[in-house]
Order: sequence, then structure tokens, then C-alpha cells
Amino acid sequence: MFRLVFLNILLALNVSAEDIFGNPGDILPIKSHSSNEFLSIKKNDNFYRLVPLPFDKQGNSIIIENKTITINYKDFGESRITIVDESMVTLSKQDSERVYAESIAIKDALRTFTTEFKPSMEFINPVEGVISSRYGKKRFINNKPRSPHLSLDIAAPEGTEVVAPENGKIILSGNFFYSGNYLLIDHGFGLLSSYSHLSSINVENNAVVKKGEKIGEVGSTGRVTGPHLHWTVYLDKVKINPELLLKEDFLNRAL
Ligand SMILES: [Zn+2]
Repeated sequence: MFRLVFLNILLALNVSAEDIFGNPGDILPIKSHSSNEFLSIKKNDNFYRLVPLPFDKQGNSIIIENKTITINYKDFGESRITIVDESMVTLSKQDSERVYAESIAIKDALRTFTTEFKPSMEFINPVEGVISSRYGKKRFINNKPRSPHLSLDIAAPEGTEVVAPENGKIILSGNFFYSGNYLLIDHGFGLLSSYSHLSSINVENNAVVKKGEKIGEVGSTGRVTGPHLHWTVYLDKVKINPELLLKEDFLNRAL
């Protein structure tokens, strides 16, 4: 607590017109030059680099394009779930090895950096349903604290159609221990999104998908309490808040 107060005083003393603040999971447009190294948008002849604000950097600053961006502390609330099958919570050696190998496969895929196409940043909802868990919630499984939930859960009946929210290419798919039937889409320039717990996958690996095209169906494969889509969005390997992308005109409003 003392540390937090102290930090806030420091921040208050240093605030100037150049200081930029944002919430964890946000994407901030920062004036820059055009580049193939990062995702940018153009407005009124200016380029803006899209910068993801990491959840685990709350209270810290990052420096991008000589600008200091401070990531606010934010309380996203908590979510408590019960997993009855204890073997899905306390893993056997074999399952731990499987989970490790799968995490490496996902990490490797996230390094993919396609510049063949560029996302429009006008995402559509991947599934019709009810939001059941938002980004950033502290997570407790069977009362034990776990990693925060840095994804969006949308509950829908088993078999509900899941569509690609933006153009892209399927770069990883398969059956994973925690994620069940899983898909990863590369949207280009470091923006990727994943879809977990599907009952079926309707696209092949390396398939190019168009916005609105069916990619699978909602299910309850992997570690779940009921049928839902667990949707994760990455920018530069940082998990960002998927809900942000669904807000109309969010980038223009941030400029
Ligand atoms: Zn989830």
C-alpha cells in the first residue's frame, strides 16, 4: 500500500502534457513512422503505431517512440470456478509434459510475423452469445489462485457457429490439454487470435480465412465448466482485451 501511494505521488509530480496513461490490455495509437516492423494505422497523413499495454506491467511505464506510457492499476474483479475433475487441476507427470509441449508450440506460433496482409482493425464478434468472463479477472480454480484470465469468455450453446472476426490465416490447430479443440489465426503484423474449447474445427491448417467465415463450433472440450468460446487476442505477443476490438471506432476515439 505504501509503495502504491509513493508511486502515485511520484507520478503526480512528473505529469506533463507528454505523459500518456492507459489501462492494461488496451491498444494505444502512438504517433510514429510507417514500418513493416509493427502494426500501424494512418490518419490525416500521420502514422500511428498500435502499442499493446501489458497486463503484468500495471503501475510501470514503457517507452515507445520517445514517449512514456504509464499503465494504470485496474481492478477487473475476480472469477471463481470449480473443476470437479481433479486430474485437470493437479496434473500427472505425463499431462504436465503434454501441457509444456503445447505451450511451446503456441509460443513458437505467436512469433509468426506475417506482413503479407494487414488487419483492418474492424473486428466483428466471433460468436453470438453471452459474455461469461471478462479480460483481466483474477482467477481462482477450486479456491486456489491461478494466472489472471486474459481472454474473453462468451457462453453459447454447444454447436453455435464461430466465425473469423477478421481476415487471416490459420497457423495452428489441434486438440490441446487445457484449450481442447484449438485454433490460432494470424491476422498479420503481430496481431493474432485464438479460439478454445471448440466442439469442431471447420478449417484446415494454413487455410486463409475471410472475416465472417465459419471456423468452428462452440463446445466444451479441454478444461471447462460448460460450453463457451475462450477468445484470446495477441498483439506483439501481449494478450490484449478482446472487447476493445469490438467497440465501434475505438482507435479513432483513442487518437
Ligand atoms: Zn476463458
